[in-house]
Amino acid sequence: MNNHEPEPIEGILYSDNGNISIAIENGQISAIHRLEGKKAEQKLFIAPGLIDIQINGYMGVDFSGPDLTIEGVKKATKALWKAGVTTYFPTIITSDISQMKTNFAILAKAMEDPEIGKSIPGFHLEGPYISPIKGFRGAHLEKYIKAPDWEEFQEIQKAANGGIKLITVAPELEGAIPFIRKCVNSGVVVSLGHHNGNAEQIKLAVDAGAKMATHLGNGCANEINRHHNPLWPQLADDRITPSIIADGFHLTKEEVRSFYKVKGPEKTILVSDALDLAGLTPGEYIRGERTLELTPNVVKLPKENVLAGAASPISKCVGVMMDFTQCGLKDAIRMVSTNPAEMLSLDNLGAIEQGKRADLIIFSMENNEMRIIKTYVAGELVYAQQ
Ligand SMILES: [Zn+2]
Repeated sequence: MNNHEPEPIEGILYSDNGNISIAIENGQISAIHRLEGKKAEQKLFIAPGLIDIQINGYMGVDFSGPDLTIEGVKKATKALWKAGVTTYFPTIITSDISQMKTNFAILAKAMEDPEIGKSIPGFHLEGPYISPIKGFRGAHLEKYIKAPDWEEFQEIQKAANGGIKLITVAPELEGAIPFIRKCVNSGVVVSLGHHNGNAEQIKLAVDAGAKMATHLGNGCANEINRHHNPLWPQLADDRITPSIIADGFHLTKEEVRSFYKVKGPEKTILVSDALDLAGLTPGEYIRGERTLELTPNVVKLPKENVLAGAASPISKCVGVMMDFTQCGLKDAIRMVSTNPAEMLSLDNLGAIEQGKRADLIIFSMENNEMRIIKTYVAGELVYAQQ
């Protein structure tokens, strides 16, 4: 161990409540020692860092907005470290194509940045190839929504320097199935979302390689047919891993419990879907062409009375998930770190094992609330509670 290596990190292993000490070398976990008999002074847990694969912005920085800068991405990343998020996929939603390209180019630079790049292994493109129908399109602007276009997506991917690793697509659109196949063949994970696909269309999409459902239960019209709707086929197909926004507001407790009972901790991923307003003071904000209302818990479009997105970091969803489903910390962390790492082929992340990158969080759980004390990225302390 050289002088630059951090001290071993001690705490209670999230998965079995044993006291452990983690040694770090060259940014990786080099050894894990059990501290038998030694009682922890404080009840502080150690877990792999949180991984958020759907986040639109944070602390006033909008990844899809016209004002995005590298400095903004740094600000958002550092604020996310405070919330225990060591890895995230900046998510760009349906907007003007040239704006998307501009912003992806900025994110591609952020990915190479020596300070924050390690926390950004890829991007999520949510749209513009989604349902234009009110309700299903959610907060996406109708005028920018279109049918899948492989050439166009290639241009966006080029602007992103190949960084788009996840795309949300509606399977019922003309040309969607071959588009999905091409995405999958090019190494992009395809998630079905903001759609009104029927059972056959969903089956074809999954046969073509789609393997996720984006924020299941949201991005869906309020009134749907009780037999024929997009929810049942996505729940019924074991090949689909849904992401869910378990912030306590986007889904009812009963929805979260039902989805969890069907998919289990192995095939559920938590996402924040946080908007840039997350972390700011509640009130009305003008964003581009519309007015948004930030409440303490969610962001609304007051005119259309629909949810526009979440206002909580993903660390909050951990506690809500435990409260709603009575799952343990081990399974909650699995859904917010291990599963997204596996889904996006982040082979060195999402677990506490020798050889994995030392992306670690130290935290306490109080009344199902995760309180982040320290955050490490590649063995480096990037946040410590004052
Ligand atoms: Zn969405």
